[in-house]
Amino acid sequence: MKTIAWFRNDLRILDNPAFTAAMTNATSGCLALFFITPRQWKLHNWGSPKAYFQLDCLLELRKELDKLHVPLLVRSVHIQDDIPKLVHSCATQYGCHQVHANRDCGLDEIRRDEKTGIYLASDEITFTMHDGNSILPVHEITTGKGTPYGVFSPFSRTWKKALLEQWTDDTPIHAPQEDTGIRSCEIPEQLEDFPAWTGRSDWTGGEHEAKSRLDTFIDTPVRDYSKNRDTPSIQGTSTLSPWLSSGSLSASTCLRGLIERNGEEIDSWSAGPTSWLNELIWREFYRHVMHGFPKVSMNRPMQPWTELVPWNSSSDLFDAWCQGSTGIDIVDAGMHQMLQTGWMHNRVRMISAMFLTKNLLVDWRDGERFFANHLVDYDFASNNGGWQWAASTGTDAAPYFRIFNPQRQSETWDPAETYIKRWLPRPPRSIEPVVDLKDSRKQAIEIFKKAREEFEQTADDRKLVTTNGSDPS
Ligand SMILES: Cc1cc2nc3c(=O)[nH]c(=O)nc-3n(C[C@H](O)[C@H](O)[C@H](O)COP(=O)(O)OP(=O)(O)OC[C@H]3O[C@@H](n4cnc5c(N)ncnc54)[C@H](O)[C@@H]3O)c2cc1C
Repeated sequence: MKTIAWFRNDLRILDNPAFTAAMTNATSGCLALFFITPRQWKLHNWGSPKAYFQLDCLLELRKELDKLHVPLLVRSVHIQDDIPKLVHSCATQYGCHQVHANRDCGLDEIRRDEKTGIYLASDEITFTMHDGNSILPVHEITTGKGTPYGVFSPFSRTWKKALLEQWTDDTPIHAPQEDTGIRSCEIPEQLEDFPAWTGRSDWTGGEHEAKSRLDTFIDTPVRDYSKNRDTPSIQGTSTLSPWLSSGSLSASTCLRGLIERNGEEIDSWSAGPTSWLNELIWREFYRHVMHGFPKVSMNRPMQPWTELVPWNSSSDLFDAWCQGSTGIDIVDAGMHQMLQTGWMHNRVRMISAMFLTKNLLVDWRDGERFFANHLVDYDFASNNGGWQWAASTGTDAAPYFRIFNPQRQSETWDPAETYIKRWLPRPPRSIEPVVDLKDSRKQAIEIFKKAREEFEQTADDRKLVTTNGSDPS
C-alpha cells in the first residue's frame, strides 16, 4: 500500500494527524505532496510576507521529510481549480491507494476537497480528512440544537468539555521508511508575482524554530502573559502566530506543552497559562465560525444589518491609514510596525482596525485585505474574525456604540510612548489628525444606528408581507 500525505496549512511532521495516518498505513511507501499556487494566493490577498514564510516553512519541511526518506512532490499550479485533477493524477502515477489531508475551513478549500474526493473515488482511492489544523474537530462542536456557535463564551465552555473527553497525549515519532527511489522536488526561492521582502530573514520558517520559541515562551514568559499581553512596547506575547498560521506549529503542541507544565486540570491553572489558552480557543472559535457560516468566506458580515452601513469611499483616508500617516500616533506606529516587520501587536491591531472602520468609516473588507497583504502571520479565519469584531459586524462584535478612543488606548497601554517612539518615523504629535476623534465617533454611532433601524424596519415590513401572504383567510 502506497499513500500520499497532502500538505496544505500544516507544514510540519510533528503532531500532524494526516501525516501520521499516511505513514502508518503505508506498507510500501508514503509520498508527500504540496501545491504552490501563486495566483490563488494572490486571489486570497496573500502578500510577500505570508508567501515567503510559507515557502521557507516548506523548505524546512522537506529537510524533515528527507530524513524520513519521504519524497516531497511539489507542483506549481495557477489556480486551485486544477488541484483535484492533479491530486488524482499524482496518486495514479505513483500507484497510491490512499490520500490523507488535514481539514481546511474556508469555503473554496472545502469545495476543492469535495471535488478531490470525487476524482479519487472514481479510481477507488480513498481520501481521508483529519483534524490537524485545530486542537479539536471544531466543526463537530455544536449547540444543543446541533447548530454552530455564533458567540465565543458558550463555544468556549463546550470546547473545554469536549477537550476533557477527547484529549489524547498521542504524538507518534516516525521512523524513517525504506527509500522509495523517488527524489524530492526543488522548491523555488522566489515567486514571480511576489516581490522580494526585506523582513524575510527575521522570520525563520519551520517546526524547529517554532518548537524552540514555544518552549522558551511556555517555560517562563507565559506566567506573566495576562499582565503583559496588552502592552505593545514589551514582548509579552508569544509571537508564535506565523508558525501557527502556516501550520509549522500545531495548536495541539502548544496545549500539550501547557499541560506538561501545568497539569491536566486546565481549570486550576494560574492566570497566565489560562489566558494564553483562552487565545488559542479564540483561534479555534474563528475556525469553527468559518466552517459553520459559509457566508464569512464570501466577504459577508455575520450581522446582516451591517450590510446597510454606507461605508466611506474616500481613498485619501484609506491611503493615509495604509501609509501610517493618519496623525493618530498609536495607529500609525502600528502600521509602521506591520509594514517593517510583517507583524503587529494584538492590542494595536484592535485599535487600528477600529479606527479605520469607525472613525474613518472605511469598509472593514478593505482593512482585512490590507492586513492580509502585509502580515507574515496572515490567517483567513483569525484576520476575518478580528476585522469583523472591530467593525461590529461579526460574532462577538464590539457593540457599534462602544468605540475605542485611540488616544486614550494609547495613554493606557503605552503611557511613556515607548512603542510609538520605536515605530513612528516622525516625532509624536507632529502631524494633524485626518479626522476629529470626537466628531467622527459621533457620526459613526449615528450611521450604525440608522442602518440598524432601517434593517429592523424592513424586517418588520418583510414579516408583514410574509404574514399577510401566508394568511389562508
Ligand atoms: C484586526 C485583527 C486582525 C488579525 N489578524 C490576524 C491574522 O491574520 N492572523 C493571526 O494569526 N491572528 C490575527 N489576529 C489575532 C491576533 O492579533 C494575533 O493572533 C496575535 O497578535 C498574534 O501574536 P502572538 O502570536 O504573540 O499571540 P499570543 O497572544 O501569544 O497568542 C497565541 C496564539 O493564539 C492565537 N490568537 C491570539 N489572539 C487571537 C485572536 N484574537 N483571534 C484568533 N487567534 C488568536 C494566535 O494563533 C496566537 O499566535 C488579528 C486580530 C485583529 C484584531
